[in-house]
Amino acid sequence: MVIQGRFSFNEMVTIANSCDPSYDGVFFYAVKTTGIFCRPSCKSKNPNKENITFFQTPEDAKRAGFRPCKRCQPDTKNFDPKLAIINDTKAYIHSHYKEGLTLTKIALHIGISPYYLARLFKTHTSKTLHSYLQHIRVNKAVHLLKTTELSVTDICYEVGFQNSSSFYHAFRKKTKQTPQQYRRGFSHDL
Ligand SMILES: [Zn+2]
Repeated sequence: MVIQGRFSFNEMVTIANSCDPSYDGVFFYAVKTTGIFCRPSCKSKNPNKENITFFQTPEDAKRAGFRPCKRCQPDTKNFDPKLAIINDTKAYIHSHYKEGLTLTKIALHIGISPYYLARLFKTHTSKTLHSYLQHIRVNKAVHLLKTTELSVTDICYEVGFQNSSSFYHAFRKKTKQTPQQYRRGFSHDL
């Protein structure tokens, strides 16, 4: 299952296994053998790829017969409007990361002031919107470096960077390597 065309199945498996909280609220994963569903950040044991399935909302997971994990409590019992804003913002970034996104553009879509959105996002995720966006773009680039033959330059623009120097800078910051070194290192692992 592909969540609104944003992620491939393998990408979501990688995210679930890396326990990256950046994807919380964006999708949920369920494990067929245990009947339980979790947030991507949950530190519970990594499930086998064959047993995993994905949902966009906790309601979808419950409808399919899965129970919420006691550890990560993926079904927030009380509706939190602030959390809904954060999740909408994340979802918007995941759908538009390839474009030249600005705080104003995101805030306009969400329907609140840029100042308030920036503060709220930072408080809830301890990341600025800009660093969150770069994080998502670098993760996408890592995935493309591993799984495609696309050139580094193509990947740079494919994931939404406006020029290669900002791509190299963001990539290095997260992985401590250049994209070329990363790709070579990965192919050695195979
Ligand atoms: Zn969990």
